[in-house]
Amino acid sequence: MTRVYITVDTELSASHFAHHGREGLSENFDRAILGRTATGDVGIVHQMRRLDAHGLKAVFFVDPLPGLVVGPDIVKRIVHPILDHGHDVQLHVHSEWLAFAERSPVDGRTGRNIGDFSLADQFRIIGVARDLLTDAGAPAPIAFRAGNYGANDDTLRALARLGIRYDSSFCPGIARSACRITLSADVLAPVDHCGVIEVPVGAITGWGEGRRHVQLTALSAWEMAAAIEHAVASNQASFSLVSHSFELLNRRQGTVNPIVARRFDRLCALLAGRKDITTGTYIACPPVVPPPWRHVETLPHSPVRTALRLGEQFLSNHLFGETPSPRLMPHGRLWMASQRIIHPLHHLVPLQNLAMDALTAF
Ligand SMILES: [Zn+2]
Repeated sequence: MTRVYITVDTELSASHFAHHGREGLSENFDRAILGRTATGDVGIVHQMRRLDAHGLKAVFFVDPLPGLVVGPDIVKRIVHPILDHGHDVQLHVHSEWLAFAERSPVDGRTGRNIGDFSLADQFRIIGVARDLLTDAGAPAPIAFRAGNYGANDDTLRALARLGIRYDSSFCPGIARSACRITLSADVLAPVDHCGVIEVPVGAITGWGEGRRHVQLTALSAWEMAAAIEHAVASNQASFSLVSHSFELLNRRQGTVNPIVARRFDRLCALLAGRKDITTGTYIACPPVVPPPWRHVETLPHSPVRTALRLGEQFLSNHLFGETPSPRLMPHGRLWMASQRIIHPLHHLVPLQNLAMDALTAF
C-alpha cells in the first residue's frame, strides 16, 4: 500500500500585498485562497469539495505570517474551512511577509527565505507562525514546508526544538531551488535529518540526468499517473505531490486554467480508483522512514510523455497560464514574442478545446 500525500501550499500573495497593500487584501484573499474567477471558485474550498467527493485527504500547508501584518482573523478565515472539511492544517512560512510586519519577531530583519535567517531567528519566526496557526484554531502543527522550499539545516534544527517532527521542504526534483538542506538529490524517501524526518517532494526523471518535481503545474496528468504507478510498483510507502491554493487559477488573468483544473480532476479520479493507494494526513498517518536497504528510484524518463507534456505546457502557459518566471523560463524574450503570435488564438475557443482534448487524453 502506498500513501500519497496531496500537499497544498496555502498562501496569500506577498508580492500582491507589496503592490496593493491592505486595500488589495480582499482581492488577494479571493484570488490566492478561494481561487475566485468569473466562472466560479477553484481555490481550497473547491479543491476540498472535489477531494471529499472522491474520499481523498490532503495536507494543507498554511502560511499564517500575513496574520502578523493584517491581524489574526485572516488566518482563521483560511484555517476554519480546512478543519471543517477534515483535512490537515500544517505549517508553511513565507518569510517575505516579515518586511511588512509592524511588530517584527526578529527586530526588523528580513529575508526572502527562512534559510536566510540565523538559527535563533528561525526559531522565533517559526514559533510565532506556529502560534498564529494554533491561535486560529488549528491543532499544533507537526509538519512544515518553507516558502520557496527555502529551508536549510538550521530550519530543521529549529523545527526539532519546537517539537515539529516533519519537514517537507526538500525538493530533489528542482536542481536549482532555494532549498539549502544538505541532503543528496538521491534522497527520495523520508529520512532522519537534523532532528526531524525530512519528507522529500516526489520527483521523476526528466531529459538527460535532470529531474522534475511532482507538482500539478509541472507534470501532465499522464506523467503524474505514471509517477504514482511507479511509486506503487516499487513499494514506496509514501509519495508526496505538491499543489497550491491558487494552482488551478491563472492569477494574472483571474481565470481558471482549464488544463490544470482538468489535471486535478484526473488526479482525484485516479487516486480514488486504486485500492493499493491511500491518501492521508500527517496527523492521522504520518510518513514513515523506510529501512535503509530499501532503495528508491525516480520514474525513468519517457520521451513520449515529455513531448506530450511540453505541448500541454505550451497551451497552458500561452493560452491559459501565467507568465513563466525568468528563473524558470530563461528565454523570456522568446516567450514574449511567441505570446504576440499566439495571443489571437485566445479567440479560437474550439481550437483550444480540440488541442486540449488531444493533449490531455492520456
Ligand atoms: Zn508557498
